[in-house]
Amino acid sequence: MFAQRLAQVAESATMKVAAEAERLRRSGHRVVDFSVGEPDFPTPDHIKAAGKAAIDADFTRYTAVAGVPELREAICARYQADYGISTTASEVLLTVGGKQALFNAALALLDPGDEVVTHAPYWPTIPEQVKLVGATPLIVQTDWRDAFAVHADAILAAITPRTKAIIINSPANPTGALVDEETMGAIADAAAKRGIWVIVDLCYEQLIYEDVPHNLPKVLFDRHRERTVLACSASKAYAMTGWRCGWTIASKELTKIFNIIQGQTTSNISSITQKAALAAVSASHEPVRAMRDEFRTRRDRIHTLLTAHSGIRCVKPKGAFYLFPNISALLTDAVPTSADFAQRLLEQEHVVVTPGEAFDAPGYIRLSYATSMPQLEEGAARMLRFAESLQPSKAAAL
Ligand code: PMP
Repeated sequence: MFAQRLAQVAESATMKVAAEAERLRRSGHRVVDFSVGEPDFPTPDHIKAAGKAAIDADFTRYTAVAGVPELREAICARYQADYGISTTASEVLLTVGGKQALFNAALALLDPGDEVVTHAPYWPTIPEQVKLVGATPLIVQTDWRDAFAVHADAILAAITPRTKAIIINSPANPTGALVDEETMGAIADAAAKRGIWVIVDLCYEQLIYEDVPHNLPKVLFDRHRERTVLACSASKAYAMTGWRCGWTIASKELTKIFNIIQGQTTSNISSITQKAALAAVSASHEPVRAMRDEFRTRRDRIHTLLTAHSGIRCVKPKGAFYLFPNISALLTDAVPTSADFAQRLLEQEHVVVTPGEAFDAPGYIRLSYATSMPQLEEGAARMLRFAESLQPSKAAAL
């Protein structure tokens, strides 16, 4: 009855978790929610003010499909300042979040039968969008013992004559891992040789907690500019998830194709959002730094609290706002999978986490630390109590 292309596409697993949590909340339980994928901070005042001013000035009509020139120019200036890459407004196109940025790229570049190499644990939208356009994702696994590092040789080994694109997400959801510049360089060189597109999801680019080099845009632009797509977002950097603002940076030719796709589907993103995003991108990044510092403090706290338990094995993530512990040592006959673990944790302690199965990583759970410190501490205490409750049956099983 429905289109064939949907046969392979999965529903969002995180939505299911959210619905369960909502059910418990409605029945009066004090739920600790570690499932949310968005900053708990409000949008900064100067950004909200710019949105309100846009409405008051009747800036409420259609704009150019790609977005107003001053916003695209401000994005160019921001990437020049942050990464030293020089672009023009004709290489930038505003999208309804990073999601549409990635989907435009999938629609523009992939045909049925094409293959796309990406890495896991992954943010599920990445492979699902590839499938939605009839292409096939090829997944390269990474491991917590190796800090979820993406290795160039593993990515390159997955390339076949059908490979059309490589999608890299750094900082990554759900692991918080960063792809290092050397790895990106080796991938870019190999892609350049074979004419393969490289799409980089930089949605968490402003949320990096360690002072490590992460200039992936420059590495790609120096080696493989014509076939690079940067997919970016205002959602996490500026606490603007609901405004729906993302953008692509790509060649003029590809940006023209994005223009055609968007011109026949959604047209421009909200004019009001564009004015707010202009304030976000061009003003001082002090609020971004303050938010990042707070996330770093929370990351350190929740990591210390949880890893006090020997069954919760977890690298300290370098970016994004998730912990991705391996809890396989806590699994028992009664709680055999991470999905069961998440379900039991929800029922027993009213703590919501996303099971690793959602990210192609059974044996793990994802916790978002984009929630207040008291909630983090309360949630960690409940999780440790839950872990303890599992020990006896595990001992019995051994
Ligand atoms: N990329 C990654 C890795 C994400 O986690 C998300 C949001 N969860 C996005 C892109 C897209 O977010 P948005 O559409 O709000 O920009």
